[in-house]
Amino acid sequence: MLTLTSSLLVRMHQHLLGGYPREACGIMIGQETYDGAQQSGKIVHDLVLVSNAWEVESEREGLRNRYLISPEDVARADREASQRGLDIIGFFHSHPDHPARPSETDREFAWPNVSFVIVSVEAGQVVDTRSWVLRDDRSAFDEEPITGS
Ligand SMILES: [Zn+2]
Repeated sequence: MLTLTSSLLVRMHQHLLGGYPREACGIMIGQETYDGAQQSGKIVHDLVLVSNAWEVESEREGLRNRYLISPEDVARADREASQRGLDIIGFFHSHPDHPARPSETDREFAWPNVSFVIVSVEAGQVVDTRSWVLRDDRSAFDEEPITGS
């Protein structure tokens, strides 16, 4: 379960729409919730909006289906989170004109425990927002529900 307020969701969508038709991305900071020793969910407190650091090496490759968050941006988000007693709990990116499901590339570059929110943007409109968590054995993603509060 990922808790994301509607105002944060609006901010996320605006950032991703601003990048359309290219992929855009960002980092979610917040805290994990526990039920006993078991992690039961994550609460997003803030977003760190970053620019897509993927460098286009050829026009054919393009930015449309790739995104990369630079190590500097991750370090900046990590500092910002720890100053507030929070952690990086996930990442978000858009899929321009594609469904909000992880691609094979997303699986290769993801890691377990954090949330990967994917927003499908079609013709400049947000059509779907879903959150995914990579299994420990990295074989696949499982969808997790998103709640508003
Ligand atoms: Zn993706």
